[in-house]
Amino acid sequence: MTTRYLEPRLERASRAEMSRVQTRRLRQQLAHAATHSPFYRRKLRSAGVKAGAVRTLADLPKLPFTTKDELKENQAAKPPWGDVLAVPLDEVLRIHMTSATTGRPLAFLDTRDDWYGFYHSYARALHAFGVRRSDVVMAAFSYGPWIGYWSGFYAAQDLGCLVFPVGGLSTDQRIDTLLTYPVTVLGCTPSYALFLAEAAARKGVDLARNTKIRITWHTGEPGASIPATRAKIEAAFGARAYDLPGLTEIAAWGFECEARSGLTHINEDYCYPEVLDEQGRPVEPGGRGELVFTSLYRKAMPLLRYRTRDIVQLADRRCPCGRTLTAFEGGVLGRLDDMKKVRGVIVYPRRVEELVRPHAHVQEFQIVFRRHEGLDDILIRIDPSPSLSPAERGGLQTKLTEDLRIGLGIRVTVDIGEPGSLPRWDHKARRVRDERTEVPF
Ligand SMILES: [Zn+2]
Repeated sequence: MTTRYLEPRLERASRAEMSRVQTRRLRQQLAHAATHSPFYRRKLRSAGVKAGAVRTLADLPKLPFTTKDELKENQAAKPPWGDVLAVPLDEVLRIHMTSATTGRPLAFLDTRDDWYGFYHSYARALHAFGVRRSDVVMAAFSYGPWIGYWSGFYAAQDLGCLVFPVGGLSTDQRIDTLLTYPVTVLGCTPSYALFLAEAAARKGVDLARNTKIRITWHTGEPGASIPATRAKIEAAFGARAYDLPGLTEIAAWGFECEARSGLTHINEDYCYPEVLDEQGRPVEPGGRGELVFTSLYRKAMPLLRYRTRDIVQLADRRCPCGRTLTAFEGGVLGRLDDMKKVRGVIVYPRRVEELVRPHAHVQEFQIVFRRHEGLDDILIRIDPSPSLSPAERGGLQTKLTEDLRIGLGIRVTVDIGEPGSLPRWDHKARRVRDERTEVPF
């Protein structure tokens, strides 16, 4: 299959070839950052590192980490761009903002070549999902400064697809577009895929039967890498769903492939990945740790050893698709920022989703961490599908309580509410509430 890979030379490179590409790009990036970015000049000086001292990938640990908080503080101290910026402003072509749950979002700037790199890495992923130039693509992300819409749109266009611009359309208008035009590929957050399916069902529209969608891809949240969530999306659209993890500050850094092996391939020629344990040491294949990326192509804001706060597991097996790119087992497994400790047990919201979604009658859910009768407790609120009969409620509650107790290693309280009682999410979901840390008012 000659068309399986968009860039076979890189996607199937030998380890030696890939290391050569990475080493060359790393040296260029480092020299560029050390010369042109005041932020990195200061940072390297205070760490006592000369750019020339990093010659190979093995030298990378000599460099200090970069954090998102640092970048935000830098932009606040030197508004509006901060001085990570390593090119004159007139070379900048694009601005995007990271979505912020707290504080001001980070503004991220790109040159023309940086932007090409971002959407071209994204195009590699779409190609691996099976998207081809004959496809008609809808990128159903919101029109605004967030990168999701723009990168999905440009990536599909990069492959030669016909792309429908629906960023500013309502959900009703998008459903109408899907019914009227031969859209074959849909991109959106996993939460929005479920939201869209529910909205269509309310109008009596069966997206699986009444549209031509054959592929959906999902980014912004890790839901599509959770088997039960993916199965739900695939059933709703009658299509194959794929996970595309990305970061505004780095790249569309990974993708699943049509082999559907559970592995996520890493665009490691765009961004060099390190997976580090709590002591900052690289994990062995099969091990889990924090993902740290060094950008190998961006010139406007060239990030070195950027801590993503994402937890991933380095794969210890090969994908049958033949790609030699470094791979992770199952996408982003958790965010360090989302980690909760309850009675000494560490709980990630993703794990709750993995356990709750396989139950067909679970339409929506919410995770509440609370103090209950003097103890830390987890309350799982369930919004059931309207087809759940009163007689089945007790059974569902018992099964969920048991599955969650075994899966999380801690007893939880399950509350089955009324259909439609929980909020729905048309972008990224916020299903977690921690009442232990929320300030009462
Ligand atoms: Zn593969």
